[in-house]
Amino acid sequence: MSVGRYQQGEAFARTMDDADPLARFRGEFLFPKDVIYLCGNSLGLQPRKVGQYIAEELEDWRNFAVEGHVKARHPWTPYHENLTPSTARLVGALPHEVVTMNSLTVNLHLLMVSFYRPTRERYRILIEAGAFPTDQYAVTSQARFHGNLQGFNADDAILELKPREGEDTLRAEDILSTIEREGKSIALILLGNVNYLTGQAFDMKAITEAGHRQGCVVGFDLAHGAGNLELALHDLGADFAAWCNYKYINAGPGAIASCFVHERHVRDQNLPKFTGWWGHNKATRFKMGPVFEAIPTAESWQLSNPPIFQLAALRASMELFDAAGMSALRKKSVLLTGYLEFLLSQGPSHDFTIITPKDPSERGCHLSIKVNADGKALLVKLREAGVVGDFREPNIIRITPAPLYNSFTDVFRFAQIFTNLFRPVDSRL
Ligand SMILES: *Cc1c(COP(=O)(O)O)cnc(C)c1O
Repeated sequence: MSVGRYQQGEAFARTMDDADPLARFRGEFLFPKDVIYLCGNSLGLQPRKVGQYIAEELEDWRNFAVEGHVKARHPWTPYHENLTPSTARLVGALPHEVVTMNSLTVNLHLLMVSFYRPTRERYRILIEAGAFPTDQYAVTSQARFHGNLQGFNADDAILELKPREGEDTLRAEDILSTIEREGKSIALILLGNVNYLTGQAFDMKAITEAGHRQGCVVGFDLAHGAGNLELALHDLGADFAAWCNYKYINAGPGAIASCFVHERHVRDQNLPKFTGWWGHNKATRFKMGPVFEAIPTAESWQLSNPPIFQLAALRASMELFDAAGMSALRKKSVLLTGYLEFLLSQGPSHDFTIITPKDPSERGCHLSIKVNADGKALLVKLREAGVVGDFREPNIIRITPAPLYNSFTDVFRFAQIFTNLFRPVDSRL
């Protein structure tokens, strides 16, 4: 069934579910009772195996205590390496370009230590206006930190990409022309690849090439892109990327995060870096010597020995991504989100507009619906009707069919509930 051939009526949703090659993955997740869960952009559902995997580590801790570092079923000392192949596959990277560690904002800072190297002439950071707040705080604090030391004006260091007057999303040509115009003063381009608020996906390739032509470092915050879009980070050539694993990747609240450093940088001994013992050569780590010797992979950015329970949860989720494959997931996602858009466009009301771009290549799973109503109150009504989505100030409801566990029937039921909420308003018109 191709896009553009959607039909109204629940029978169509059931037909699509019956034909869905990924339908079995729904059964691999634990759903809250009696809800239509469309909030995977915020917190993914719990994979069924997470409990077992964490229980195994608890058991091994009990049985082996310190010897678990080598004797556990999945020995703890190299445990993070279990995540490396699947993480690399997920984002189209080489295994030595990825590492799972810390949390997202921490990793953004650690990577900026290496990749934001401002000078008095080239010191600016290009981000989206209205970027996720933590990204704004992180880049501002980095600019202040360096500005104080190097004598540039940090207040002028953050350059923001804004949609044109009256528009909700950025135009690709405006992003590229800004990079061309301001490039010589930009040290770092740090963009999302799916905007958390509008759902707009950017052309990462064009941005990376334009940035590199101007001599800028290019990094991506993939919080809303990893596990959502098909990515090819290595071929793309971006310098670095970081993402969290609790949204589309379903590793649980506050889950351990992952990041990418392009291979041309991983062995660079001259790159400034904040270091810790888990980034040190594994062969000599336990000689406990005083001089740091970097692992020649992205692991050299690791500081501490990692939290095993978190890695266990992530492992359960990554097995599902491996089994489903990002390419099949993306295929389903385009159909599923297109179906949501189709049903909303059939709605009885003009009281809402979808601000997410219509072209599937410019978006991931989620649609941002701008409502001409009290969005917060609407979300409460949706919740009463069993729908879990989310609301962002001032009037945006984000609805996310996640292809790993959502069905066409979920989308159908949501659309019915949502459009019905507007009916009384219509009848008053
Ligand atoms: C969700 C999200 C974050 C969250 O940061 P944490 O450090 O994981 O709390 C950061 N940036 C973006 C763009 C996000 O969407």
